[in-house]
Amino acid sequence: MNTHVESETYPILGVNISACSKEEFFVSVKERLQNSDETLPPLFVVTVNPEITIQSIIDNQFNKILQSSSINTADGVGISWAVKQLYKKSVDRITGSDSLEKICAECAKLDQSVFLYGAAPGVADKAAAVLVARNPGLRVEGVYSPFSRDTNFDRLPVTTQIELQNASVVFVALGAPSQEKWIYANMHKLSRCRLIIGIGGSFDFIAGTQKRAPIMFRKTGLEWMYRLYKDPSRWRRMLRLPLFALNILLLKASNTTIQKTDTVNLPQKELA
Ligand code: UDP
Repeated sequence: MNTHVESETYPILGVNISACSKEEFFVSVKERLQNSDETLPPLFVVTVNPEITIQSIIDNQFNKILQSSSINTADGVGISWAVKQLYKKSVDRITGSDSLEKICAECAKLDQSVFLYGAAPGVADKAAAVLVARNPGLRVEGVYSPFSRDTNFDRLPVTTQIELQNASVVFVALGAPSQEKWIYANMHKLSRCRLIIGIGGSFDFIAGTQKRAPIMFRKTGLEWMYRLYKDPSRWRRMLRLPLFALNILLLKASNTTIQKTDTVNLPQKELA
């Protein structure tokens, strides 16, 4: 059984990107946070960038995970550009960092607890302290940052497992595709969990261990360039960006099979 957010989708290189607006997305988040039915699986959110779509072409298991998630949002500006090129439509960008902040604000209001998993030792603790200061009343069930991409839940310390099992929301910061693979392999063990999301390097930004790109870079879609300048070891990953753009332009030129999918997603209320 899975929980999907009802929305039309735009397939981008085999990954269905939701057409839902930011407002609709956060309404779905709020609805799920308010739903205490423990038989419902968590809302599994993936924030998609061009690198993720290229990875899903070469990694069949990852592609299947992206098909099973509840919602795939357009994170990278490259995804909204691709939707524009192929479907002449605009999609709202819903990033991991923005989602982390907004979901924590909602959790504080609704008295739901969060768990922060991933990043280098100490980073999740710092991020938790900042999030609590920004959102008085936010309950942090636990944090765990081992800097490991181990997808085996059973190898996590027992106290961590218990805290994870009690959390309503789990943020996973292991980088893609490890975080989505961890979520897919483990979310069925988290019966209290209402929402689970991979958020990449967001703990680093919140904790201040890495600076987010200045707003000018973010607005113009050049955040990747700033991150490359700050961390040149990312160059190999960045090679995927021209590959992504080339694929989209070739698809556009060939003008074949480009159609918005019929929605096959199941409304949450039917599952409730
Ligand atoms: N990370 C981790 N274990 C690893 C590799 C990375 O916990 O083996 C963490 C890293 O510290 C960072 C997060 O994963 O906080 C996301 O890393 P990345 O910059 O690759 O993700 P992006 O934001 O580009 O998706």
